[in-house]
Amino acid sequence: MKKWFKSILACLTAVSLAACGSASTSASSSAEASSASNVKDGTYTASAEGFGGQDVTVTITVEGGKITNTVVDASTQSADYGQKAADTLAQEITDGQTWDIDVASGATMTRNGASEAAKDAMSQAGFDVDNLAKTSDASGEDETAECDVLVIGVGASGSVAALKAAESGAKVIGVEATDHIGGMGNAAQGMFAVGSVEQKDRYGEDGETTDEEYWYNHFQESNDDLGNAKLIRTFISEAKNTVSYMLNHGVGFFLSKTAQQIAHFDTEVVYHRWNNADPFTYIGNALDENGVDIRYNTTANSLTTDADGNVTGAVCTKADGGTLTITAKSTIVSTGSFANNPDLMKEVLGEEVYNNAMVMAGAELPGLEMMWNVGAAKGDLLTMNHGVVTMNADEKVSELTLNTPILWVNREGKRFMNEDLLKDTVHFSSAVVAQGGVAYTIVDQATVDRWTDMSQENTGTWIHYWDQHGIVDENGEPTIYHAPMDIDTWNAGFDALTAAGEGGVFDTIEEAAAFIGCDADDLQETIDNYNTYVENGYDEEFFKDKEDLVYSVKEGPYYVTKGHSGVLGALGGVNTNELLEVLRDDQSVIGNLYATGNNVSGISHGAYQDVEGVGLGFSLTSGRLAGAHAAENAGYTPSEDTTELTELGQKTMEEATARGMQGTTKHE
Ligand SMILES: Cc1cc2nc3c(=O)[nH]c(=O)nc-3n(C[C@H](O)[C@H](O)[C@H](O)COP(=O)(O)OP(=O)(O)OC[C@H]3O[C@@H](n4cnc5c(N)ncnc54)[C@H](O)[C@@H]3O)c2cc1C
Repeated sequence: MKKWFKSILACLTAVSLAACGSASTSASSSAEASSASNVKDGTYTASAEGFGGQDVTVTITVEGGKITNTVVDASTQSADYGQKAADTLAQEITDGQTWDIDVASGATMTRNGASEAAKDAMSQAGFDVDNLAKTSDASGEDETAECDVLVIGVGASGSVAALKAAESGAKVIGVEATDHIGGMGNAAQGMFAVGSVEQKDRYGEDGETTDEEYWYNHFQESNDDLGNAKLIRTFISEAKNTVSYMLNHGVGFFLSKTAQQIAHFDTEVVYHRWNNADPFTYIGNALDENGVDIRYNTTANSLTTDADGNVTGAVCTKADGGTLTITAKSTIVSTGSFANNPDLMKEVLGEEVYNNAMVMAGAELPGLEMMWNVGAAKGDLLTMNHGVVTMNADEKVSELTLNTPILWVNREGKRFMNEDLLKDTVHFSSAVVAQGGVAYTIVDQATVDRWTDMSQENTGTWIHYWDQHGIVDENGEPTIYHAPMDIDTWNAGFDALTAAGEGGVFDTIEEAAAFIGCDADDLQETIDNYNTYVENGYDEEFFKDKEDLVYSVKEGPYYVTKGHSGVLGALGGVNTNELLEVLRDDQSVIGNLYATGNNVSGISHGAYQDVEGVGLGFSLTSGRLAGAHAAENAGYTPSEDTTELTELGQKTMEEATARGMQGTTKHE
């Protein structure tokens, strides 16, 4: 598995686990019940980072195996929100006997710090903290709330929508099913933009990097003109303002041809890569500063409407099982599409592919259905096919074997693509999706000898391209493993692949064919033909580049790796106009309803755009725009948009660029 893919998966796992934690409402809530025998009476103190990177300190007193008192020291936090929330947070910890606290005060980051610190203190006291997520007793009190702008789903797009609306003067409530903001944005690495301050700084005004017409045409052509032209045009011209908006909030991007994720054929530098340890910390701080009231562990289930069909708010379920009914002048649904809905995923992707692919999924949530139920037209639905990976196996060997344009076969033992396709992660993944989500690479012993000869420069493989572009991680290591690779690493990798059922070493073609599940004669014929193409320097079947016709497959043993299509998520659900207002089938607007991010159809059609950072770029941009339009709909004048950088923005850009040019991706 590629290291960038692995790291985003690690983030994603963290995201999913957190979501699972908040969803595990039937777990024991009682500190007493969890592990009283291990709990020692006493006073325990711990600190964790809250608002503005400043520590929040929590002290718990434990008597008779129970927390009898909690003090939250939030003196470092904002006077208006964090400090005011301290007593409520402390009470929640004592009352709930849990670190899994929620507070309806706008003090998101203070709450996060207090929660983390309480967990640490409880662990010191001997509590089994994993069992102390909040319990739903399904008997929580019903509540109502009112606001100007309601944002459902405070993920990548929702957090920016909430911020923009609040900065425009609106009173904003965010409803978030998990216990944190950022959603899938926590796993993403960067955003697409054209003509940003950073691009202009580096490349001047000319060229495709800053040419909106070039990119508009690229999007529309790859969509066969079935995309939402107005929305695409808006996205392409507005994304640059999003870059400045994020920089002005302290979120660092770096733009570097030598350090970008080379995931697509496009060579233009449109990918602005996150350059902060945790971008959503900065957005979270700004949400706090602007008094956005986020209701965590709360899931919206349905939208409410007036007699004319205009949306008037939403009905949600709180963590305690009670109902929260929110009335709002504008409602933005930012729930991140349908990747978490297995039925819909199987419908769109096909059951066979869904079962074989590496699909990113967490809890099942009803976001899109809410909008369809109030009359929204069902928009184009598709999946974000991206990369090909092994499951649960050593990533070093598979990064090499799955990312080099060697011989690939499908489950019939036949070639199915020009292997140069793997130079673009979207096209590559889609080609494997077309084979049912699974395909195999095969190399012989001579290739392995060459790849494990540490004295030899690896030549003739595209994998080398990654090196030439100096793509390194925060430790200066190449972002994916490649040849030459020492023989011990190679062998250990194949042991792991074998143990996981994801590959194997076979003495004969018959054995390799049995592993793949194909006919041995068919596989042999494929190999013979391929060897002829390598010999002649001409691939008459799929026209692979001559320079990648390098490794024939002759004497065994044979090394086979199984690859699965990666699917980063789902795209689409409802159609909007360029103001992000949700449309009915007849194109009329559903009053007061906006959608953002992956929920919106029309940016990609058929397949995810083969351009760096479109998912996140559109999410952040549509969030910013929907936040402004929703605030305006509620009677406010949106805060001004500009590409101009503030002093903070300029500093953030310079620091991010300096770090990026050194090859680092994170803060010290
Ligand atoms: C591993 C991985 C890597 C990626 N890398 C990149 C990248 O490098 N560049 C790029 O452009 N894109 C990338 N993407 C895609 C990008 O992350 C998404 O396009 C983007 O996060 C979508 O934003 P969103 O706001 O639509 O949804 P999300 O960010 O997923 O937010 C949705 C939020 O809504 C909440 N929610 C859902 N339903 C409800 C409900 N009913 N009530 C309350 N809350 C609800 C969820 O908990 C979540 O917090 C990646 C995705 C993955 C999975």
